[in-house]
Amino acid sequence: MNTVTLQGSNNPIIVSKIICVGRNYAEHAKEMKAELPSAPVLFLKPPSAIIGNGGAVILPPISRELHHEVEMTVLLGKGGRDIHQESALSCVAGYGIGLDMTLRDIQSEAKKKGLPWSLAKGFDTSAPLSEFIPAASVRDPHRLLLRLSVNGAVRQKGTTNDFIFRLEYLISHISQFFTLSPGDVLFTGTPEGVSQTVPGDTLEATLSDESNKPITYLKVRIEGRR
Ligand code: MG
Repeated sequence: MNTVTLQGSNNPIIVSKIICVGRNYAEHAKEMKAELPSAPVLFLKPPSAIIGNGGAVILPPISRELHHEVEMTVLLGKGGRDIHQESALSCVAGYGIGLDMTLRDIQSEAKKKGLPWSLAKGFDTSAPLSEFIPAASVRDPHRLLLRLSVNGAVRQKGTTNDFIFRLEYLISHISQFFTLSPGDVLFTGTPEGVSQTVPGDTLEATLSDESNKPITYLKVRIEGRR
Protein backbone atom coordinates (compact mmCIF):
# COMPACT_ATOMS: atom_id res chain seq x y z
CA MET A 1 0.00 0.00 0.00
CA ASN A 2 1.37 3.41 -0.86
CA THR A 3 -1.58 5.60 0.02
CA VAL A 4 -2.96 7.41 3.07
CA THR A 5 -6.30 9.01 3.88
CA LEU A 6 -7.14 12.55 4.97
CA GLN A 7 -10.35 12.93 6.97
CA GLY A 8 -13.01 14.60 4.84
CA SER A 9 -11.40 13.85 1.50
CA ASN A 10 -12.83 11.02 -0.57
CA ASN A 11 -9.83 9.77 -2.50
CA PRO A 12 -6.76 8.04 -1.07
CA ILE A 13 -3.65 10.20 -1.37
CA ILE A 14 -0.60 8.69 -3.07
CA VAL A 15 2.54 9.04 -0.95
CA SER A 16 5.67 9.84 -2.93
CA LYS A 17 8.19 9.64 -0.09
CA ILE A 18 8.40 9.24 3.66
CA ILE A 19 11.05 11.29 5.43
CA CYS A 20 11.79 10.43 9.05
CA VAL A 21 13.51 12.42 11.76
CA GLY A 22 15.59 10.51 14.29
CA ARG A 23 16.32 11.79 17.80
CA ASN A 24 13.89 14.69 18.06
CA TYR A 25 13.29 14.17 21.79
CA ALA A 26 16.12 14.59 24.32
CA GLU A 27 14.90 11.75 26.58
CA HIS A 28 14.80 9.29 23.68
CA ALA A 29 18.34 10.26 22.59
CA LYS A 30 19.39 9.55 26.17
CA GLU A 31 17.77 6.10 26.29
CA MET A 32 19.51 5.23 23.00
CA LYS A 33 22.81 6.45 24.50
CA ALA A 34 23.05 8.80 21.52
CA GLU A 35 24.30 12.38 21.50
CA LEU A 36 21.86 15.25 21.10
CA PRO A 37 21.96 16.08 17.40
CA SER A 38 23.09 19.53 16.27
CA ALA A 39 21.06 19.05 13.08
CA PRO A 40 18.10 16.69 12.47
CA VAL A 41 19.04 13.08 11.73
CA LEU A 42 17.13 12.14 8.56
CA PHE A 43 16.34 8.82 6.93
CA LEU A 44 13.74 7.51 4.46
CA LYS A 45 11.18 4.76 4.36
CA PRO A 46 9.72 3.60 1.03
CA PRO A 47 5.98 4.24 0.51
CA SER A 48 5.62 0.45 0.08
CA ALA A 49 6.18 0.18 3.86
CA ILE A 50 2.81 1.81 4.65
CA ILE A 51 -0.02 -0.06 6.35
CA GLY A 52 -3.21 1.50 7.67
CA ASN A 53 -5.39 1.24 10.75
CA GLY A 54 -6.33 -2.39 11.39
CA GLY A 55 -3.31 -3.75 9.53
CA ALA A 56 -0.55 -6.11 10.58
CA VAL A 57 3.17 -5.48 11.04
CA ILE A 58 4.97 -8.56 9.73
CA LEU A 59 8.25 -9.27 11.50
CA PRO A 60 10.87 -10.43 8.97
CA PRO A 61 12.61 -13.65 10.06
CA ILE A 62 16.07 -11.98 9.98
CA SER A 63 15.26 -10.04 13.18
CA ARG A 64 14.64 -11.03 16.78
CA GLU A 65 14.09 -7.53 18.12
CA LEU A 66 11.22 -5.47 16.71
CA HIS A 67 10.75 -2.10 18.45
CA HIS A 68 7.86 0.38 18.38
CA GLU A 69 8.46 4.13 18.04
CA VAL A 70 5.26 6.18 18.21
CA GLU A 71 5.51 9.49 16.32
CA MET A 72 3.41 12.39 15.17
CA THR A 73 3.17 12.23 11.39
CA VAL A 74 2.65 15.06 8.95
CA LEU A 75 1.04 14.90 5.51
CA LEU A 76 2.14 17.63 3.12
CA GLY A 77 -0.41 19.30 0.87
CA LYS A 78 2.08 21.64 -0.77
CA GLY A 79 5.73 21.12 -1.58
CA GLY A 80 8.73 22.99 -2.85
CA ARG A 81 12.42 23.58 -2.30
CA ASP A 82 14.08 25.89 0.23
CA ILE A 83 10.79 26.50 2.03
CA HIS A 84 11.03 29.35 4.55
CA GLN A 85 10.17 28.58 8.16
CA GLU A 86 7.53 31.33 8.07
CA SER A 87 5.53 29.53 5.37
CA ALA A 88 6.40 25.94 6.37
CA LEU A 89 3.22 25.18 8.32
CA SER A 90 1.07 26.33 5.39
CA CYS A 91 2.46 23.32 3.46
CA VAL A 92 0.85 20.89 5.93
CA ALA A 93 -2.39 19.18 4.84
CA GLY A 94 -2.87 17.07 7.96
CA TYR A 95 -1.54 15.54 11.15
CA GLY A 96 -1.63 11.91 12.20
CA ILE A 97 -0.08 9.27 14.40
CA GLY A 98 2.34 6.68 13.07
CA LEU A 99 4.67 3.93 14.16
CA ASP A 100 8.28 3.93 13.04
CA MET A 101 8.68 0.16 13.38
CA THR A 102 12.34 -0.68 13.76
CA LEU A 103 14.37 -3.91 13.63
CA ARG A 104 16.59 -2.77 16.50
CA ASP A 105 19.07 -5.65 16.27
CA ILE A 106 19.55 -5.05 12.55
CA GLN A 107 19.86 -1.28 13.13
CA SER A 108 22.45 -1.73 15.92
CA GLU A 109 24.50 -4.01 13.68
CA ALA A 110 24.31 -1.46 10.83
CA LYS A 111 25.33 1.40 13.18
CA LYS A 112 28.33 -0.59 14.36
CA LYS A 113 29.46 -1.29 10.81
CA GLY A 114 28.64 2.19 9.50
CA LEU A 115 26.04 0.71 7.13
CA PRO A 116 22.68 2.25 6.12
CA TRP A 117 19.48 1.70 8.13
CA SER A 118 17.22 0.96 5.15
CA LEU A 119 16.47 -2.64 6.04
CA ALA A 120 16.00 -1.94 9.77
CA LYS A 121 13.60 0.96 9.12
CA GLY A 122 12.10 0.42 5.67
CA PHE A 123 10.95 -3.19 5.46
CA ASP A 124 7.37 -3.92 4.29
CA THR A 125 4.81 -2.93 6.98
CA SER A 126 7.33 -0.75 8.89
CA ALA A 127 5.21 2.38 8.48
CA PRO A 128 1.74 2.05 10.08
CA LEU A 129 -0.13 5.34 9.56
CA SER A 130 -3.46 6.58 10.95
CA GLU A 131 -5.95 8.64 9.03
CA PHE A 132 -4.72 12.25 8.89
CA ILE A 133 -6.70 15.07 10.49
CA PRO A 134 -6.93 18.29 8.43
CA ALA A 135 -4.35 20.85 9.55
CA ALA A 136 -7.06 23.51 9.75
CA SER A 137 -8.64 21.69 12.68
CA VAL A 138 -5.38 21.53 14.68
CA ARG A 139 -4.80 24.76 16.55
CA ASP A 140 -1.16 24.16 17.49
CA PRO A 141 0.85 21.15 16.26
CA HIS A 142 3.29 21.64 19.13
CA ARG A 143 0.59 20.98 21.73
CA LEU A 144 -0.36 17.45 20.71
CA LEU A 145 -0.09 14.36 22.90
CA LEU A 146 1.16 10.98 21.72
CA ARG A 147 0.43 7.73 23.43
CA LEU A 148 1.15 4.12 22.60
CA SER A 149 -0.08 1.05 24.41
CA VAL A 150 0.82 -2.60 23.87
CA ASN A 151 -1.89 -5.11 24.83
CA GLY A 152 -3.59 -2.33 26.80
CA ALA A 153 -0.52 -1.24 28.83
CA VAL A 154 0.89 2.23 28.12
CA ARG A 155 4.50 2.08 26.90
CA GLN A 156 5.11 5.54 25.41
CA LYS A 157 3.68 8.97 26.22
CA GLY A 158 4.92 12.27 24.94
CA THR A 159 4.07 15.76 23.79
CA THR A 160 5.14 17.48 20.59
CA ASN A 161 6.03 20.43 22.84
CA ASP A 162 9.23 18.50 23.68
CA PHE A 163 10.54 18.47 20.09
CA ILE A 164 14.22 19.43 19.87
CA PHE A 165 13.55 20.73 16.33
CA ARG A 166 10.19 22.44 15.77
CA LEU A 167 8.09 21.48 12.78
CA GLU A 168 8.67 24.77 10.90
CA TYR A 169 12.40 24.21 11.17
CA LEU A 170 12.16 20.55 10.14
CA ILE A 171 10.15 21.29 6.97
CA SER A 172 12.45 24.16 6.03
CA HIS A 173 15.60 22.15 6.73
CA ILE A 174 14.41 19.00 4.92
CA SER A 175 13.36 21.04 1.85
CA GLN A 176 16.95 22.20 1.39
CA PHE A 177 17.94 18.63 0.53
CA PHE A 178 14.77 16.85 -0.60
CA THR A 179 12.32 18.68 -2.87
CA LEU A 180 9.01 18.21 -1.07
CA SER A 181 5.83 17.21 -2.90
CA PRO A 182 2.14 17.03 -2.01
CA GLY A 183 1.58 13.58 -0.52
CA ASP A 184 4.94 13.38 1.20
CA VAL A 185 4.78 12.14 4.79
CA LEU A 186 7.09 13.11 7.66
CA PHE A 187 7.74 11.11 10.83
CA THR A 188 8.77 13.64 13.48
CA GLY A 189 10.65 11.49 16.01
CA THR A 190 9.72 9.40 19.02
CA PRO A 191 9.58 10.19 22.75
CA GLU A 192 11.22 7.85 25.27
CA GLY A 193 9.85 4.42 26.08
CA VAL A 194 10.66 2.55 22.88
CA SER A 195 10.69 -1.18 23.54
CA GLN A 196 10.28 -4.61 22.07
CA THR A 197 7.05 -5.98 20.67
CA VAL A 198 6.44 -9.56 19.57
CA PRO A 199 4.03 -11.51 17.34
CA GLY A 200 0.61 -11.67 18.97
CA ASP A 201 0.83 -8.14 20.42
CA THR A 202 -1.76 -5.46 19.69
CA LEU A 203 -0.47 -1.89 19.45
CA GLU A 204 -2.78 1.10 19.86
CA ALA A 205 -1.56 4.64 19.23
CA THR A 206 -3.46 7.89 19.68
CA LEU A 207 -2.83 11.52 18.89
CA SER A 208 -4.74 13.84 21.23
CA ASP A 209 -5.27 17.57 21.42
CA GLU A 210 -4.24 19.67 24.40
CA SER A 211 -7.48 18.86 26.23
CA ASN A 212 -6.49 15.19 25.92
CA LYS A 213 -9.25 14.42 23.43
CA PRO A 214 -8.09 11.81 20.86
CA ILE A 215 -8.13 13.24 17.33
CA THR A 216 -6.84 10.22 15.46
CA TYR A 217 -6.12 6.63 16.22
CA LEU A 218 -4.17 3.63 14.95
CA LYS A 219 -4.43 -0.03 15.90
CA VAL A 220 -2.19 -2.73 14.45
CA ARG A 221 -1.20 -6.27 15.38
CA ILE A 222 2.21 -7.88 15.18
CA GLU A 223 2.59 -11.09 13.23
CA GLY A 224 5.48 -13.41 12.50
CA ARG A 225 6.16 -14.19 8.85
CA ARG A 226 4.44 -17.44 7.90
MG1 MG B 1 11.80 7.05 14.83
